[in-house]
Amino acid sequence: MGPLNIFHQNADNPHGYARGLKARGKTILGYFCSYTPEELINAAGIHPLRLFGAKDDTGIADAHLQAYCCSLVRGALTDVLSGRLDYLDGAVFPHTCDSIQRLSDIWRLNTNLKFFADVVLPVKLTTESSRRYLEEVLRKFRSDLEKGFSITIPDERIRASIKTYNAIRTSLKALYRMHAKKTSPLTAGDLNAIVRGSMIIDRTEAASMLADLAAQIQAPGKADGSEKRVMLVGSVCEHPDIYRLIEQAGADVVWDDLCTGSRYFEGLISEEGDPISALARRYHERIICPAKHSSVTGRGENLVTLSQEHGVQGVIFLQLKFCERPASRACSWRSRPSCLPKVSS
Ligand code: SF4
Ligand code: SF4
Repeated sequence: MGPLNIFHQNADNPHGYARGLKARGKTILGYFCSYTPEELINAAGIHPLRLFGAKDDTGIADAHLQAYCCSLVRGALTDVLSGRLDYLDGAVFPHTCDSIQRLSDIWRLNTNLKFFADVVLPVKLTTESSRRYLEEVLRKFRSDLEKGFSITIPDERIRASIKTYNAIRTSLKALYRMHAKKTSPLTAGDLNAIVRGSMIIDRTEAASMLADLAAQIQAPGKADGSEKRVMLVGSVCEHPDIYRLIEQAGADVVWDDLCTGSRYFEGLISEEGDPISALARRYHERIICPAKHSSVTGRGENLVTLSQEHGVQGVIFLQLKFCERPASRACSWRSRPSCLPKVSS
């Protein structure tokens, strides 16, 4: 099976992959959000597994949640309460939206996994003091992992993990760029599966397969150039069918601003100096999601820059039902239409 099929298969069936890992004795921590410092989990020799939540009946979770909680939180709680996550050794909750924070409390009270951590990251990422605070939060998380699993995580292991993540992010960005330039046979749906699969499978294997894929696919794209170039913007995209719908409508997602897309791979980590400081700088300076604050117009300006850089003709805001941090809310386009990129026909 080629790398592309492996990414698709595991993005479609993360539980199957995780059960296989568990059978081989691997410790697995679940996480929900691209603000989770998974480089530290990986450095601890623990497998970080992104949880996307059940998409079927979530009745078992409804008893614990208000009706306005998003489908990601509802699905994740359904999965753990119904026993589908029986391979997990614990879970990590970064401080982002209110729904994730309250899920953390409900999870802690209703499960008895070995490990649980709240990673209370700052919301406002504009000051030197918030960077220093973030660094201390990461040091505490490292210490929580060490205590929780009776291990030590040497700096060298963190540096090695940083290299692996830099390799993953570099290859993901290269694959996105090839698609945007129409020099790749991969579809936008393939890229979505590749990014989600990279959050599921062993990271060393992911880095190696992504490098192979990037080297293998230097071929002209399938698209004939007549399709409209659009950008998909939102929080999580866990509905791959959206890509087919957009293609059928005569458009192509040439870039995105999603935490299951470019926000995951943008921003490499310095491989020099203290590795925790380097991680803190990356999480402080990365392109923010709508649950964080850098400036009033920062997100909107970033979307304008991305749309100009990739020749985007239209933007689709993809909103999970009841997401309290919809991408459009933190964007200034609605209130400042002059920010809108020029649309060609
Ligand atoms: S949109 Fe932001 S808060 Fe929500 S899951 Fe993604 S990174 Fe986390
Ligand atoms: S940012 Fe939105 S989609 Fe993500 S967990 Fe929070 S409410 Fe749900």
